[in-house]
Amino acid sequence: MKGIVVKSLRGCFSVDGADGKRYDCAPRGKMRGGGIFCGDNVEFNERELVVERVAERKNQFARPPMSNITRALIVTAVTPVPDMLLIDKMLVKCYARKIEPVLCMDKNDLPGAAEYFDKLKTEYAACCDKILSVSAKTGNGIPELCRALGGRNEIICVAGQSAMGKSSILNAVLPLLSLKTGGISEKSGRGRHTTRHTEMFSLPDGGYIADTAGFSLLSEQDIEAEQLKYYYPEFVPLQSKCKYYGCNHLTEPDCAVMAELSRSVSSGRYQRYKDFYAELNDYQKKKYR
Ligand code: GDP
Ligand code: ZN
Repeated sequence: MKGIVVKSLRGCFSVDGADGKRYDCAPRGKMRGGGIFCGDNVEFNERELVVERVAERKNQFARPPMSNITRALIVTAVTPVPDMLLIDKMLVKCYARKIEPVLCMDKNDLPGAAEYFDKLKTEYAACCDKILSVSAKTGNGIPELCRALGGRNEIICVAGQSAMGKSSILNAVLPLLSLKTGGISEKSGRGRHTTRHTEMFSLPDGGYIADTAGFSLLSEQDIEAEQLKYYYPEFVPLQSKCKYYGCNHLTEPDCAVMAELSRSVSSGRYQRYKDFYAELNDYQKKKYR
C-alpha cells in the first residue's frame, strides 16, 4: 500500500496509509539507518508492517529529517532581538527548494510590535505574499493564520530563531485545526523540546504541519554565492535590465537592482544580501582552497 510517513521515533515509522489508517512500521532490511524521513511517500506492506520503498523526494532536510515540505511558517517577533538576515536566509532556502514561505510575527501584544510589523511589511512584501501578525498569548490573528496555512496536501514546517514563539503558535493553531478535523490522532508524544522524534499533525485539508520547533531550514550551506541573486524574487525581474549579463548587483555599473533601491527593492534587504553574498563567498573559498 502507498502511504506517507508522519512520525519517526527510534527506528519506528508511523505511516498514514492510503486507506486512511495509521500503521507503525519498521524499515525493510537495507533501509535501516536513516533512509526514511518524515514526509516521505512510501510503499509499505501492511501485513508485515515494513516500509519497502521511498518515492523520490521533492526536497529534503537533514536536521530534523524531513522531506517534501511545501510550505514554511517562519516565526519572528519583536523580542528576543530579531535577526533579519536569518529571515532572509530562511526565505532563500524556501525559494531554492520551492517552498512557499508564510512570515508570521508572534507576540503582537507586546510594545514595539506594531513598528516591527510595519518594518517586516516594508522589507518583505515584495518577496513574500503572506505576512501575518498574531499573538499566541491572546489568540489575536490565530484564525487568520489557520486560514493562511490551509490548502490541499501541504506539508508545513515551522522555522525561526529560538524563543520567537514557534511552540506557542503550534499550540495555539493545533486545537483550532483539530476542532475542524475532529481530533488529532496522537497527542501523547508531544512535549516542549523534550523528545527527539519528528512528528507531523494532520491538517483538515489533507496536509500536515510538522512539530519541528527547532527547525532552522539552514542545516546545509548548499547555495553558491553566484546563485544567490536568483532566490531574491524582487531581484529576478530586474536582472535583464542590468548592464552586465549575470550581474550580481554588488559593484557592477548600471545595475538595475541598485537603481531600484528604496523603491521595489528594500535597502535593508539589499544590504543584507551583500553580507550574505560575502559570507557564501568566504565559505566557498575555504571549502575549495
Ligand atoms: P520557541 O522557542 O520559538 O518555540 O518559542 P516559545 O513558544 O517557547 O516561546 C518563547 C517565549 O515567548 C515563552 O516564554 C512564551 O511564553 C513567550 N510567548 C510566546 N508567544 C507569545 C505572545 O504571543 N505574547 C507574549 N507576550 N509572549 C509570548
Ligand atoms: Zn545588477
